Amino acid sequence: MASKSQFDRPELVRSAGALQQVLAAWRAQHKSIGFVPTMGALHDGHLSLVKASRAECDVAVASIFVNPTQFGPRDDFGKYPRNLARDLDLLGGSGVEIVFAPSAEDMYPPGYATYVDVSHVSEPLEGHFRPGHFRGVTTVVLKLFNLVQPDVAYFGQKDYQQTLVIRRMCDDLNLRVQLRICPTVREPDGLALSSRNAYLSAAERQRSLAIWRALSLARQLVGDGARDARSISQRMRDVLTTAGITEIDYAAIANPDTLTEVDTISGPVVALIAAKVGSTRLIDNEILTPAAY
Ligand code: AMP
Repeated sequence: MASKSQFDRPELVRSAGALQQVLAAWRAQHKSIGFVPTMGALHDGHLSLVKASRAECDVAVASIFVNPTQFGPRDDFGKYPRNLARDLDLLGGSGVEIVFAPSAEDMYPPGYATYVDVSHVSEPLEGHFRPGHFRGVTTVVLKLFNLVQPDVAYFGQKDYQQTLVIRRMCDDLNLRVQLRICPTVREPDGLALSSRNAYLSAAERQRSLAIWRALSLARQLVGDGARDARSISQRMRDVLTTAGITEIDYAAIANPDTLTEVDTISGPVVALIAAKVGSTRLIDNEILTPAAY
């Protein structure tokens, strides 16, 4: 099978059975498979993952599935942006061969009863504020890994805790897929691209920049030699509240492997923020490395 050109529209596959047929043909030809799981409403962040997959693997599969099990009862599942036609257009220029977009009924048929729970690293931060979220994420990612059986799967650093939880799952369950974590793609003014940015009014869009300002301040302070993590967290909070962002779930400096909050910075840490801008909850993070490290 010839590789697709940059200008082909990807093939839309809606069922697991149809996916298996295409994958079997690829496997017979020993093609390496790169996989980019998404919830759609695609932007350049997602496309950067596709690009990484294209650079490394013979063929690329993207999935588009707004996964109900990772949304809590008060989350935005109902209003999450869905526009498959636009997503397919965007992917058309990206070199993805297959877009797998299953239905919720296919993924979770009546009687469905199996979930994957990763302990510890899934518990603080997002795990605390969105109980059950990572259980939904790991469950759907494992199901998608089983369906696609990729050689390499691509995730964004934007969802930092998610990358740690998925890595833990892969290690603990002896999955053979390799993970690649790609840098966060930002707007020119620093705002991390997110499908949820579409919810922001112009004024909220402006206010949301404080998240990047707070992370940049943390990076600058650590670069300048600050080591007291609690006071850096407080400075991040101050930046947010001064901009009018008062619903802050966390503004934390944490160990980059375990996500436990640190007191004194003595090596690389990760600064993480989750806050509501209007009714839109945004998350972002930045890895900080002390100068002398
Ligand atoms: P989502 O559709 O939000 O579930 O995201 C699908 C994948 O895209 C996840 O691995 C995200 O971490 C990644 N992603 C989302 N936003 C960005 C971004 N701004 N830069 C890089 N990757 C991103």
